[in-house]
Amino acid sequence: MIYSDLIIWIFAFIFGTVLGSFSGALIHRLHFDKPGLWTGRSECPECKTTLKWWNLFPLFSYAFQGGKCAYCHKRIPFIYFLYELIFGVTFLLFVQKFSSPEVLPPLLFAAWALLVLFFYDYLYFEVDLRITIPAIALAFIWVFFREQAPSFYFIGAAIGGGFYALQYFASGGKWVGSGDMYFGVLLGLLLGWPLLLLCLFMAYIIGVITAIYLIIFKDYGRKSALPMGAFLMPAGLVCLYNGDWWLNMYLTWSGLGQYYSF
Ligand SMILES: [Zn+2]
Repeated sequence: MIYSDLIIWIFAFIFGTVLGSFSGALIHRLHFDKPGLWTGRSECPECKTTLKWWNLFPLFSYAFQGGKCAYCHKRIPFIYFLYELIFGVTFLLFVQKFSSPEVLPPLLFAAWALLVLFFYDYLYFEVDLRITIPAIALAFIWVFFREQAPSFYFIGAAIGGGFYALQYFASGGKWVGSGDMYFGVLLGLLLGWPLLLLCLFMAYIIGVITAIYLIIFKDYGRKSALPMGAFLMPAGLVCLYNGDWWLNMYLTWSGLGQYYSF
């Protein structure tokens, strides 16, 4: 490790936390249809006071103010701290692993979009098409500049979209929402088909683990719904980061590796 790397990593983490703070506000504004979607100043969700720059230091402001608004002293939901931490750590990991200037910017953008879509769907049970559709369009363009042939990614998009479309139409929209089809297409375009299958599998496992956790520790009733499609995002992030490693591990472990290799 050299010092210049360290400085880049610290910068990536800080950049991620700032972006996480902004994205938390963006998710809030998207859901409540607030004006100034991209340009609005951050405000306290309780008293609506416009926050000053010293209230906006990622992580530190929240910690030093004890998780309370500096003006009205009401609790600020912990998720605002989580946004900063999770975006920061994600950016740090991606910058650490991928240094190529051709791959890193689209990967970071994809990671950002997946995180925003995850939190939005998880919190509000809605797929926000104002983020999803542009993300699909950009992922589509990126396909033509990647290491595999475009068909590799298009097959992924067809499987991902088809998987959710089938469930949607078969159940009349009861099992999955129409937005999950868009998620399937987006993840397929980003990952290509072998990793898309892994992503569907991982999303299911993350969803089940979350459900068990909620039932045991949070008194989640049997009828409470979980937006299962949302778990495609964390699964997709893991697959973007080191999906090949997981896939090869699975193929080796299951013995399928002698028939398939990617
Ligand atoms: Zn306040």
